[in-house]
Amino acid sequence: MGKAKLPVNGSSEYYEIRLESIGGLGANLCGKMLGELGVKYLGLNSSSFSSYGSEKTGTPVKGFIRYCDKDREIRVHSPVISPNLLVVFHQALLKDESVLAGCGENTEIIVGLDGGVNEISGQIPGGIKACYVINAQQIAMETHSRINVVMLGAMAKVMGFMELEDVNQICGDTLGKKYPDALQGNLEGIRRGYEEIKELTGSVSEFAKGTAEKAPGRETASGWGYATAPEGGINPRFGSSVVSDLSPSRQGYIPLFIKERCINCGLCDSTCPDMVFQFVPGKYKDKEMMVNKGLDYYHCKGCLRCVEVCPVNALVRGLEAEHPHKEYFLPNKDLVRTPDYYLKTGADGYVTSESYLTEKRMGGGEV
Ligand code: SF4
Ligand code: SF4
Repeated sequence: MGKAKLPVNGSSEYYEIRLESIGGLGANLCGKMLGELGVKYLGLNSSSFSSYGSEKTGTPVKGFIRYCDKDREIRVHSPVISPNLLVVFHQALLKDESVLAGCGENTEIIVGLDGGVNEISGQIPGGIKACYVINAQQIAMETHSRINVVMLGAMAKVMGFMELEDVNQICGDTLGKKYPDALQGNLEGIRRGYEEIKELTGSVSEFAKGTAEKAPGRETASGWGYATAPEGGINPRFGSSVVSDLSPSRQGYIPLFIKERCINCGLCDSTCPDMVFQFVPGKYKDKEMMVNKGLDYYHCKGCLRCVEVCPVNALVRGLEAEHPHKEYFLPNKDLVRTPDYYLKTGADGYVTSESYLTEKRMGGGEV
């Protein structure tokens, strides 16, 4: 077991990592592996924990890892506010400004791409140390692994104080016994992550949206102290809630509503953890009752539990795209907010898809 030399300056005790991810991409396991790796193979002290919302799939996930020398104790157990390394598992998360909170001149950022690099133009804060990108989704698919191991390989390369062999070891320890058939693909995913990570060269400013001092969310996150913390110490930025824009958590799928099939049973509403469905007093088959008017996609994280539970296929899985039936995209009237609150959700709120159209045709509808 070697002793890794941490790239921290004299005044800083810890090397801190924050993972920003979506439930289902494996960030929680990735954080655990990093924590174990520090202790088992790097001769360091380490800690690791994650935070996520009401349901795992699709919900925003944050992972926090700290390393320090063996002769120090880790006495901080709070979330990482100003990371040395910020790892964004999916580029869609950059739409959420809190993801970039606390980035400064010592921060390196890794972004997992799903589209072209130009799509993140204007979304990276200026004044950071460096920004790297990796086609994590594509590599994971090609190697039959998962995004988390690709990101693990990429992180090892950027951090520079762990060898590829160390990462392979921890992957073998974690997955080898449980999923021996999947080990080879995961090791390949790690290798490709390590080798294919690319720095955004030239100037990060081409991709920048502001200076480090103006990085979104920085003021709020780093400004909290005993005098300025929210009342009762409540965290107002927890993963999944009616006040959160959950659209960045979606992985390209969304529930589509076929109103004419709906029997207003309410199962979707009691299953959905995020207050997406808008029921209002109305009439169904001449009876007065609460009727389903549609969805507020602002809160929808795309877990598709409602699709599973709907007994009459009035909800079907669809790809995010332009929706022909905008009348079923309904802002939640119970929440008080200004009209532009919805603009951030973007076109993702409106959807159509071949699966939706097929469903409509099967149902005898004209499309
Ligand atoms: S579960 Fe299906 S049928 Fe029941 S209210 Fe929801 S959409 Fe309508
Ligand atoms: S509306 Fe459906 S897909 Fe969206 S969060 Fe609720 S249960 Fe999940």
